[in-house]
Amino acid sequence: MNAVDGRITMPTTNVPMRILVVEDEQKVASALREGLDSEGYDVVVEHTGEGAFFRLNTEAFDVILLDLMLPGRDGLQILRTLRQRGDKTPVLVLTARDTLEDRVTGLDSGADDYLVKPFAFEEVLARLRALLRRGRVAEPLRLRIGDLEIDVVTRKVTRGGRIVELTVREFELIEYLLRHQGQIVSRGTLARDVWKETARSTSLDNVIDVHIARLRRKVDLDQPIKLIHTVRGVGFMLREGEP
Ligand code: CA
Repeated sequence: MNAVDGRITMPTTNVPMRILVVEDEQKVASALREGLDSEGYDVVVEHTGEGAFFRLNTEAFDVILLDLMLPGRDGLQILRTLRQRGDKTPVLVLTARDTLEDRVTGLDSGADDYLVKPFAFEEVLARLRALLRRGRVAEPLRLRIGDLEIDVVTRKVTRGGRIVELTVREFELIEYLLRHQGQIVSRGTLARDVWKETARSTSLDNVIDVHIARLRRKVDLDQPIKLIHTVRGVGFMLREGEP
């Protein structure tokens, strides 16, 4: 199960859009940071190709603003590497190189859009909105309830900023519960959607209960606010506080 299988399209979170800005020119970078920040985006800036590369290995973004001319690894190299490994994060290329040839190279390398410097900030916003609208059809890449956050690309799970180590099945379970937060999820639903078993069986119910218990230990133990709740005789519900 992953972010692009398209099984569930319900928007379930209010996590702000996360943007990586890769730009070595300090003035341009800080103008973008300030502008995007004030528009409510969650902005991360990297000033070198290496920095961007390492950041992209460990974190997911909703969109990337990528300068092509960078010290170290250049923007095109980063873009090609991303696309080679199947990463479909929308990329808006920003560059001073405005020849037709460079545009073609950028787009061939997997850029989704292209802006030539100098550009107006309004133009950046317009292009971003267009890219994000396209990307929004897909599932959100990060899901959150209270202080629990999961990244469905890197499979990193944190509660209150601390990493929670989960098995593959436990991750699938918490992802499912997060996508259906506030709803009662029955064992039958979990059997079908997480375990992919269509036939009801008591033994699977027991397996589900064991997984829920482990998940609870890892996520809720010692926490003042419990997230995973049992709805007696029906199933489970993920929400902040008692249902
Ligand atoms: Ca540059």
